[in-house]
Amino acid sequence: MEQPDPNSSAYRVSQGWRRLASLLVQGGRAEDVPRRGAFVNPPVTRGSTVLFPDLAAMRETGTRSHDHELVYGAMGTPIQHDLEQLVAAIEGGVHCQVVSSGLAACTMPLLAFLSAGDHLLLPDSVYSPTRRFASTMLARMGVETTYYAPTIDEAGLRALVRDTTRVVFAESPGSHTFEVQDIPMLARVAHAHGARLMLDNTWGIGVFQPFEHGVDISIQALTKYPGGHSDVIIGAVTVAENEDWRILRDAAIQLGQVAGPDDCWLTLRGLRTMAVRLERQSLSALRVAEWLRGRPEVARVLHPAFEECPGHPFWLRDFTGACGLFGVELREDFPVSAMEDMIDALGLFGLGASWGGYESLVLPTTGGIRRNIPGGIPKGATFRIHIGLENVDDLIADLEGGFEVLRASSAG
Ligand SMILES: *Cc1c(COP(=O)(O)O)cnc(C)c1O
Repeated sequence: MEQPDPNSSAYRVSQGWRRLASLLVQGGRAEDVPRRGAFVNPPVTRGSTVLFPDLAAMRETGTRSHDHELVYGAMGTPIQHDLEQLVAAIEGGVHCQVVSSGLAACTMPLLAFLSAGDHLLLPDSVYSPTRRFASTMLARMGVETTYYAPTIDEAGLRALVRDTTRVVFAESPGSHTFEVQDIPMLARVAHAHGARLMLDNTWGIGVFQPFEHGVDISIQALTKYPGGHSDVIIGAVTVAENEDWRILRDAAIQLGQVAGPDDCWLTLRGLRTMAVRLERQSLSALRVAEWLRGRPEVARVLHPAFEECPGHPFWLRDFTGACGLFGVELREDFPVSAMEDMIDALGLFGLGASWGGYESLVLPTTGGIRRNIPGGIPKGATFRIHIGLENVDDLIADLEGGFEVLRASSAG
């Protein structure tokens, strides 16, 4: 296969996916399943009750930690544990807990590691349901949240940390506004104050190694690229330390957090092809982003591989690739209503929430989620693009038609 020039953006967005391919194909298989005389894919096993040979065996099982043992369906099924093993290997952590959704993967560790009287630092660019959880449920339970600019520097962050700060939360790049965060700096500050650093690493799965950069707890919406086919809702939380694993695992059991075996099976099957899908999607996304960047209607393309994206140097330093999701900011002379007409006129880009499937999507993001922290918020109308596996020339032709509608609509 032809390899892009190592100094090119094409190489930088796609190299990490090539490295990941063997792990995705070979990993996540229980060791006791023979490599001959068995089906390639681990089976789905549906179940609640697990039968024990006698009472002594049942009691004995109850005294152990049974992380990956069959005890009861609510503690996970074999296919869930295979998936957990593969996600832990991708992220480079010691253990992973699969949960019912990406959002549960955000809220569950916050519940596990925060108590009344504690202080939480959340980036202003955080996924909006995570923000809502902090401002409603966590507030009700006596946890106070301060929002920080995702582009904050070390001195700025130190000024916000309190004695009671127990969690610094990050999401990189940020939802809708795509700021890449300085994760090693966040880790330094968090750890100096005895706080944990949690990262929503959904965008960076496979191309950002959270624990190598000081993250303690990494969150994944597996709904996105791991599932990869827009047909499953599932999440995962991975930890760097066994000590944190005990706390997280206990919270998962107490909160009844599992995922159904069929959803785990679909996600594991999706992961087998993630490297090849993402190699293509990252390169197609870069091509579309470069084309958009050259359009006179566009003020900025918020793609981490571009210099104009806030935090671009951190992406260059810390990431081995990019995915197919990025933002577009139009020039200020195009009103939001014209952008909306453009979006409605697109044919190949589906309009809907979420991303990470094989199909292209578009979503208006003007007004977005950032509220509290001034600076860096786009002035022009904005939308988010997800690039799927369609022919990239067809996607560009579709966008070209969209820009005609944009111009006509803002003239009229
Ligand atoms: C989609 C998403 C989530 C939530 O995942 P669901 O499975 O849809 O609940 C969380 N964080 C980020 C960054 C996401 O993009």
